[in-house]
Amino acid sequence: MASHGGFAGRDRSDGAAELSVPGPIMASMVDPSEFLMADGVSIIGHGDGVYQMRVSIPDDPDGFLGRQCPECLRIFRIDSGDYQGLPDDIRLWCTYCGHRAEHGEFLTDGQRERAMRAAGDLGVQLLTFKA
Ligand SMILES: [Zn+2]
Repeated sequence: MASHGGFAGRDRSDGAAELSVPGPIMASMVDPSEFLMADGVSIIGHGDGVYQMRVSIPDDPDGFLGRQCPECLRIFRIDSGDYQGLPDDIRLWCTYCGHRAEHGEFLTDGQRERAMRAAGDLGVQLLTFKA
């Protein structure tokens, strides 16, 4: 996959990741249905050639959300119901090593890969889109 660079990720308190994908500057919002998006991926806005997309991160079958410590790389789980009630800008701390960081830092490899793949898919379509 070609690298488009410049992706900025921000995690939300429901575990979904929001990403900014650079694309062509267009006068109006492109109809999101123009793009082929994976399940749980949606375009939530755009401006100045940057497209905001949201990639849902599904709970596991027990209703927990996986989180991975960016420091020690160990994975722990949070009850997704508890997590949804928290504000967007919370900081998490690792239950193993005590590392504290913005909760967006705690994406697991699988979640990050899913978000990056979705951003890459959109980036390719934006580059080839003919308005
Ligand atoms: Zn840790």
